[in-house]
Amino acid sequence: MTARAIRRGAALVGLPILALLSGDYYGGQLAQFLVLGAATAALALAWGTSGILNLGHSVTFGAGAYAGAWFGLHVGAAGSLAGLVAGAAVGGLLAFLVAWLPFRRGLPPMTFALATFVFALGAEQVANGWTSVTGGFNGLTDVPRLHLGAAALSPAGQRAFTVFVAVAAIVALSHLASLPLGAALAATRDHQRRTASLGYHVVNLKTGVFACTGALAGFLGAIFVLQVGFVSPGLVGVAMATSFVVWALLGSKGTIVGPAVATIGYNIGASELADRALDYWLLGTGLVVVGAVLFLPEGLALWVRRWLPTRRPPRQVRLGRADEREAGLPGANPAGDGAVALDAAGVVCRFGAFTAVDGVSLTLRPGEVHCLIGPNGAGKSTLLNVLSGVTPANGGRWRVGKRDLTGAPAWELARAGAARKFQTPSLATSLTVGENLALARWGPTHRWLALLRQPWSATVSPAAWTVLATADLIGQRDTVAGDLSHGQRQLVELAMALAPGPAVLLLDEPTAGMTRAETAAVGELLTELAHRQRIAILVVEHDTAFIRGVADRVTVMAGGAVLVTGTPAEVDADPRVRAVYVGRAS
Ligand code: ADP
Ligand code: MG
Repeated sequence: MTARAIRRGAALVGLPILALLSGDYYGGQLAQFLVLGAATAALALAWGTSGILNLGHSVTFGAGAYAGAWFGLHVGAAGSLAGLVAGAAVGGLLAFLVAWLPFRRGLPPMTFALATFVFALGAEQVANGWTSVTGGFNGLTDVPRLHLGAAALSPAGQRAFTVFVAVAAIVALSHLASLPLGAALAATRDHQRRTASLGYHVVNLKTGVFACTGALAGFLGAIFVLQVGFVSPGLVGVAMATSFVVWALLGSKGTIVGPAVATIGYNIGASELADRALDYWLLGTGLVVVGAVLFLPEGLALWVRRWLPTRRPPRQVRLGRADEREAGLPGANPAGDGAVALDAAGVVCRFGAFTAVDGVSLTLRPGEVHCLIGPNGAGKSTLLNVLSGVTPANGGRWRVGKRDLTGAPAWELARAGAARKFQTPSLATSLTVGENLALARWGPTHRWLALLRQPWSATVSPAAWTVLATADLIGQRDTVAGDLSHGQRQLVELAMALAPGPAVLLLDEPTAGMTRAETAAVGELLTELAHRQRIAILVVEHDTAFIRGVADRVTVMAGGAVLVTGTPAEVDADPRVRAVYVGRAS
């Protein structure tokens, strides 16, 4: 058993016992604050782990509390249990409704956060105004304790139950964050576009995590109301929402247990202060918060972690090299001469009145390295962005193998076997090299449920393994990607593109920032990949020596259009190509 499992077990058993032994007042407070702590931990999963700031977390928590109270008051003996289910359902539904359209439409994170804030404002009004259901300003009081059968729990039993559920929720959240699914959420936070291009349906991931944290908050709200016996509009409003955000911040929002502990500590402190100095307690807690934000900006958990003896990274990824014969991705590579790996016709992409890609047609054959060159601003990156589903097109059609993928989102391209490397190195900077590679390996094949069961081990394609070995990166699998040099990040991202064994590779300036030796090694690897494994590679490059060494065919773009396509020699000899480059130089 790991130390972590022992700690979790001890908390699950020990804290309910502590609540039993602490008497009505302190035990009741412990139960109350732990539920709030669990709700803050749920916020931390959405905000800290997944990057979705929710300024209306109180809405789902409070709505769950109202649902729990209403069922407890109106449904009789079975009402309290039904209220827990209703709380989760109401919280989950509200969160889903808030998130669904904004995430689908790609609303900027700050705009979404403001929308959740407005949501909290509205919810408080509804709670105040909808008197027949919510009891209006006074709220709902005398909510009965949890009933099992016909009898209510004793106060002590109620406390122990509440504490157990809250601790279990915190443990579950913390476990979830440590699974591959948690890492996929963190990758989405770090670099949403990259994560989508790995094959993850980031919109569903984000909507899912938001709805689930909403459902959990609603459930905890219902637990909370059984414990304290009443609910009022303050529980759904902006003051409560702000409190959750502050507690998450104090405890380190990127962790799960930190925010929960900070919530409990803050509330114990605030209630002691309120007992002793009723007039000043709000001012006092405000000062504590300002001080904490000034002097511990990263939050309590990360501060404590810095003082602990260095431990092994929490997630060590076991990386392996797949067998040469192991099948790659379901391929875009139809066999036979004249087959096409990627075919694009008449692609157009405009930004406002400016046409960045102007009717480009391009064919990529299995087993060829196809270089895409042209002056800066020619539209090369934009073309790759359109083909890989990152930027919407204004015209044209394209297919991978036989599959029409015109206008398909990035994750579908990845799942169809087309991998992408961006011009600027794009990886999850807060995750390790190993985690990045494992996520890249799973992206095209794993649905979210598989990410819950997948252990932290991955076998990457032989080509990805070669890239890692060339750059001595296998020994650095536990290094956080954000700590790597520019060239190393380029190589990790190249290995990520190769990891699942794609049939089509779209590489945007893969060797920028690499040493000569690294560039040469990458060139050799790409030729070998194309010629031996029949992978189709489209690579944007500037380095003429590199192009001469690797290209089977070259396409030159200028001003958004294709100038010429041919063998390197044909392109070299073409006067129009010279004119473009000379024209740029003069
Ligand atoms: P290349 O990769 O060939 O250097 P790009 O495809 O990056 O060129 O850019 C082509 C043109 O489109 C440039 O003039 C660039 O400024 C413009 N462009 C690229 N992306 C955007 C965008 N998101 N909005 C507006 N203009 C853009
Ligand atoms: Mg570019």
